[in-house]
Amino acid sequence: MAMIIDGKKISNDIKEELKEQVANLKREGITISLAVVQVGNDPASTVYVGNKKKACEFVGIQSLSYELPESTTEKELLELVHKLNQDPAVNGILVQLPLPKHMDENKIIQAISPAKDVDGFHPQSVGALSIGQNGFVSCTPAGILELLKRTGITIEGKECVIIGRSNIVGKPMGMLMLRENATVTICHSRTKDLKEVARRADILIVAIGKAKFVTKEYVKEGAVIIDVGMNRDENNKLCGDVDYEDVIEKVSAITPVPGGVGPMTIAMLMNNCVRSAIMHQKES
Ligand code: NAP
Repeated sequence: MAMIIDGKKISNDIKEELKEQVANLKREGITISLAVVQVGNDPASTVYVGNKKKACEFVGIQSLSYELPESTTEKELLELVHKLNQDPAVNGILVQLPLPKHMDENKIIQAISPAKDVDGFHPQSVGALSIGQNGFVSCTPAGILELLKRTGITIEGKECVIIGRSNIVGKPMGMLMLRENATVTICHSRTKDLKEVARRADILIVAIGKAKFVTKEYVKEGAVIIDVGMNRDENNKLCGDVDYEDVIEKVSAITPVPGGVGPMTIAMLMNNCVRSAIMHQKES
């Protein structure tokens, strides 16, 4: 019987632990605040931002909300980011993506101080991860690693195949698994014989954004499957990149969608905020 990795429970455990840690820090006089910046009112972004603020409230982190109109210029947003970089009361800065088309996302990400880059998207954070130095790690890959560790899945020495090479999931995931001593293969849309490569995996991580793409032909008997995908199926029901029903008999463990990787992303964002506050405290 496959183990169903319960991301909802694990993320709740993490948030409870953080809540306690935040309360202890408060007793030492350390308060934590996250600046959440949204430009425009894309409905999906509004939901994500709302969930992040709710998590902040639960854990005891103050969220400072900046809701800017769609017409905001790149210059105005950069000025706000610079102001937040300078503000000692702000521990983390989150600019919700995507930004309106008239803005250069890379320019905005690069303007965020790496010391407050709780999303882990700044080139310095990515570089630090690549060379094994301290820095913020992108929240979704960090959450996946936590899922594996907290369910007691051994990573060292395992064959890990990742399908997808995005900057926010696939690539940092590869670096993290390498850091944990897995043997890592990263696949993408030009990979030849994808099924054959995927079938080598003891741990198969799928982040491509295509509903139910991975079927049992891609899966080795007894593999651990991490499904990052968030898609809608033909009935408009939320589903992953893995065909759950098709692979379930073959796998030793799997994350469901919803309730697997999804809830971990926000929990790790909260974790990064707490780490940031502790770091800032040590530096001051
Ligand atoms: P992305 O930036 O669109 O990247 C998709 C990757 O998949 C690319 O590297 C692409 O290859 C590869 N790919 C696409 N079709 C492929 C195919 N047929 N065979 C092999 N590789 C293929 O996506 P992303 O941002 O990483 O997101 C992936 C999925 O995860 C989406 O469903 C997204 O909604 C979800 N997601 C969930 C969370 C969460 O918190 N649960 C967080 C982030 C993302 P090329 O590079 O060659 O184009």
